[in-house]
Amino acid sequence: MSRYVGPNCRYCRREGAKLFLKGERCNLEKCAFERRSYAPGQHGQGMRRKQSDYSVQLRAKQKLARIYGIREGQFRGYYHEAVRLPGVSGTLLLRLLESRLDNLVFRLGFAASRKAARQLVRHNHVTVNGRRVNIPSFLARTGDVIQIAEASRQLECVHESLRRSREVVPWLSVDKVNLSGTVLGQPNREDIPTLANEQLVVEFYSRV
Ligand code: SF4
Repeated sequence: MSRYVGPNCRYCRREGAKLFLKGERCNLEKCAFERRSYAPGQHGQGMRRKQSDYSVQLRAKQKLARIYGIREGQFRGYYHEAVRLPGVSGTLLLRLLESRLDNLVFRLGFAASRKAARQLVRHNHVTVNGRRVNIPSFLARTGDVIQIAEASRQLECVHESLRRSREVVPWLSVDKVNLSGTVLGQPNREDIPTLANEQLVVEFYSRV
């Protein structure tokens, strides 16, 4: 299956919410959703019909997959892993998504967006526990130390992103001097600042 290469802002307009896919631009007036908050396409401004339960669940699933930039096959795999584990499936699904290396690089503030974080990982700029890892879907565990590789510490995009970075989530700690971060534990749902309805995602997959 080919990867979507069109404008990411379309996703926000389709889902009717800001998904923050483009880093700093998302906080500026240039944000496409701020300017055109209706759905893209010829009928985007047309009357909205009442949505079926299936449609609501599908949109919730698409929204979550798009926030984390994951394609269908892999996303479904996370769902199956989440329901296999003991606990609340929706929260476990979010935990798996949050444990991805590209997400952690983003959450630590080393990249302005998950897409930029994925590129950093792919291009060998990131280490986990001192070893280079170039797999964005690598799942980090409690205690893992994520660091910008020594040879990449001068990357301006990393420093720029750190200067603009938000407060780090409570289950991570960041060391801005050494460009490293540690996974302190597994997050509870209230510690994950992702605006999504994961229960609808579980309902979506459990019916198909
Ligand atoms: Fe979404 Fe960011 Fe584009 Fe705004 S600028 S529409 S938040 S991706």
